[in-house]
Amino acid sequence: MGKYSKRQILIKGLRLKCPRCGEGQMFGGMFKMCSECDNCHFKFEREAGYFAGAMYINYGVTVFIAFASYFALDYFTSISFLQNFILWGAFSALFPIFFFRYSRSLWLSFDYIFNPSEPPDSRREGTRPPSS
Ligand SMILES: [Zn+2]
Repeated sequence: MGKYSKRQILIKGLRLKCPRCGEGQMFGGMFKMCSECDNCHFKFEREAGYFAGAMYINYGVTVFIAFASYFALDYFTSISFLQNFILWGAFSALFPIFFFRYSRSLWLSFDYIFNPSEPPDSRREGTRPPSS
């Protein structure tokens, strides 16, 4: 286990920082994820297809917020069905774009908390051309 507590790792995840060192940035742009931490060289995509689970987080959070908010507005306000439907339909289209980075950082942070060991990387090292 690294030097940070589970709570600290999650907070760093929400700030889109590397879960191991807490310094390096996970993203180089809105949708451009760095392949590894520029500070400690922790590999973010630990295996091929690693971030498929992040899509489920993104989808689940979006659906949860949209449904909960829809019913809350329906119950507490006099908003029409159509307005309410359009509002949360638009939300469901836009929120996952905003939340994309956070779903990935949360996925990585959770995985790091439960499985902090590095994956064996000999295969990748073996395919690297000689440096000189
Ligand atoms: Zn790092």
